Amino acid sequence: MGKEKVILTVEGLNKSFGPTKAVVNMHLKIRSGEIHGLIGENGSGKSTVTSMIAGCLQPDSGKMLMEGKPHCPKNMIDGRRSGICMLLQEKGTIDHLTVAENIFLGEEDRFGTKGIINRREMNKAAVNVLTKIELQDVEPAMLIDELSFEDRKLIEAGMAMKENPKILIVDETTTALSQKGREVIYKLIREMKEKGDAVIFISHDLEELKSVCDIVTVMRDGEYITTLTGNEITVDSMRKNMIGREFTGGYYRQDYEDTSDHDKVVLEAKHICMGNRLNDVSLKLHEGEILGIGGLTDCGMHDLIKVMFGLLKPDSGKVVLTEQNIEIKSPEIAVRNKMGYIPKDRESEGLMLAASIRDNINMMSMDKIKKGFLITPHATTKLAKEQVKMLSIKIGGLNLPVSSLSGGNKQKVAIAKCTANDVQIVLMDCPTRGIDIGVKAAIYRLLEQFKREGRSVLMVSEELPELIGMSDNLLIMRDGCITGKIKRSSEVSESDVINKMI
Ligand code: ADP
Ligand code: MG
Repeated sequence: MGKEKVILTVEGLNKSFGPTKAVVNMHLKIRSGEIHGLIGENGSGKSTVTSMIAGCLQPDSGKMLMEGKPHCPKNMIDGRRSGICMLLQEKGTIDHLTVAENIFLGEEDRFGTKGIINRREMNKAAVNVLTKIELQDVEPAMLIDELSFEDRKLIEAGMAMKENPKILIVDETTTALSQKGREVIYKLIREMKEKGDAVIFISHDLEELKSVCDIVTVMRDGEYITTLTGNEITVDSMRKNMIGREFTGGYYRQDYEDTSDHDKVVLEAKHICMGNRLNDVSLKLHEGEILGIGGLTDCGMHDLIKVMFGLLKPDSGKVVLTEQNIEIKSPEIAVRNKMGYIPKDRESEGLMLAASIRDNINMMSMDKIKKGFLITPHATTKLAKEQVKMLSIKIGGLNLPVSSLSGGNKQKVAIAKCTANDVQIVLMDCPTRGIDIGVKAAIYRLLEQFKREGRSVLMVSEELPELIGMSDNLLIMRDGCITGKIKRSSEVSESDVINKMI
């Protein structure tokens, strides 16, 4: 380690999206023959850095050198030309084209003259690529639409390898693959290493990282934290560096039992159907329970939580507050009955950005602070101040607009709206999305507090560690149905959950 030739150098790289500093003064060296893990919590900047390396994004400042020469790819094709290929998390192949057409997209000239493509030649050449990724059984002439997500991902990997890249970037690709698919990717990665090329490997699976990587660089909040090599690469050291010392051991819940009150159901969904998005979904939320719902983005969970709050109307089925026997037909009924909702897209749904922090916090609590017909400024200030203090919201002043706050503090205001109204049931959709780890940890502590106070939380999330780390019970959804239920235990692993998701 260390003596091998440096292929890529990244120095002082910066990238912001509006007020979000996604990557801050990042540096990195990728050497010949290494499998370089890049780790960090969600939102720590991994995809942004690698997208800049691959040419999909342009840095605001900083420099990159590829084999000693300035590297500033203007787009992905440019990036490929200088030897960098990236496998994305999302789908990277094109519908309505055949497998072979996808594989040789942009290279059709190789298989014909004067615009006429010799399909037989092209299909024959595709077999070589398919064999390499162990998809010998796939017909090159079939439409790629007919293949599973996994097979399409592997084909994308095969396409990348065909370019003979000097650096292959694998951005959370393995997360969505079965063990068999993963093995194929590992094989390609080893091949890169043997040829003296390099791989940047991004994954949340710490065990996987440990077994695959020679060297691991840790990012936090867009910044370089440290690099681990050899036997420094342990699950503990990776976790510790990712989340920062102050949270070590206590980031998620520390107890490993379902501690909700099984006898007391507070909210129920009964046979909810909605178009082709929700298909006979029933669930029960108990007193003092954190009920997690996980799945792929389009599994229906984001619709379900809106139905539960009365924001979307199901075609059939209903949502009922069990004790009161009240049907939740609208958000007004939900709020009146001490329910709160933290939307996934807080900027557009959850907050009035131009209104003051005070008004936002008071928004749901008018009934509570009303004296007769009167709402006094004193009462609204008092309530807002209490919430700001309780949730340690960092603000310049109560009268400033919510738009003046950072993402994490905006989310705290969205939560304060609920806590101000003494909600008993909180519905949260991706509560920590794009939030820094300090605020994340604060939200987790708040969830624990809710539990202790006998309140109930329904949490939809796309982050497996937080679902596993916080839920008493975890429901898995796929294609609009609940397909699995996992009880809280220290044994639950991410792959248990993923297997039920895909
Ligand atoms: P990671 O891959 O480590 O999960 P990302 O690089 O995707 O992190 O994101 C880093 C930060 O930049 C996050 O706060 C994210 O919300 C933000 N971000 C990423 N892409 C965009 C974008 N296109 N527009 C606005 N913000 C973005
Ligand atoms: Mg990412």
